[in-house]
Amino acid sequence: MRALQLITDRRIEIADLPAPPAPSLGEVTVAVKAVALNHIDVWGWRGMAFAKRKMPLTIGAEASGVVEAIGPGVSNVLPGQLVSIYGARICGRCHHCVAGRDNLCENVGGVHGFHLDGFAQEKINIPARQLVLAPPGVDAVAAALAPVTFGTVEHMLFDNAKLQPGETILVHAGGSGISSAAIQLAKKMGCTVITTVGSDDKIERAKALGADHVINYRVDRFEGVVRKITKKKGVDVVFEHCGGCRLREDVKRVGTGNQLDGHVVDEVPALAEILGDI
Ligand SMILES: [Zn+2]
Repeated sequence: MRALQLITDRRIEIADLPAPPAPSLGEVTVAVKAVALNHIDVWGWRGMAFAKRKMPLTIGAEASGVVEAIGPGVSNVLPGQLVSIYGARICGRCHHCVAGRDNLCENVGGVHGFHLDGFAQEKINIPARQLVLAPPGVDAVAAALAPVTFGTVEHMLFDNAKLQPGETILVHAGGSGISSAAIQLAKKMGCTVITTVGSDDKIERAKALGADHVINYRVDRFEGVVRKITKKKGVDVVFEHCGGCRLREDVKRVGTGNQLDGHVVDEVPALAEILGDI
């Protein structure tokens, strides 16, 4: 079977690999139908000195596929069903996994497509606990996009920020992938969505996704516009995934103090300092 592999940093080739054997206990054989592309794939392609991994490595951290065969003890999926594949090798036993907080797994074995062989291959054997059944009406391409971007946004908006229908949310960086998901999900549940963009050509796209108000922050100071739109009340939720100084400004200037949610990957000390301030 074909697999797309990273041979060395910045070099990808199609390889011919043996198909997986029959699935063992708790495993499922999935015929991969669609693979998404995320920043983690770009980081993996460029090469990161700290990443513990061996090459060649099959790429692809986010994907969907059809269940082809199930191993003994598998009860959450059936052959023929379309599934999203979760990219982290979670243990399924620690208290976080049992509570459904897989992202906090204490024994995570790496990320597929980055540390471990990924999903850009025709078939893969994968633990059943890493599969999520696609709802009716969701096709393979849409299902492939669910785990990383939409999963992250779902966690930020609903698990952490507890966004409620009718609330007003400020979504920063409306042109980014993660904010595109946030605009759509917030609008779907009946929120007023204000978003910021850095250029005029992103305004119409943000509106098409469902944003009620789009602010070009290079033209207007978003704080003033937000206060005007909300009649000085401020927003209920600030969706911020850039971190650092901007988060401090968001909370001081436009937040009502109810909800704060940041997904910060590279500025943890700055975030800690900010959280100490508020
Ligand atoms: Zn775990």
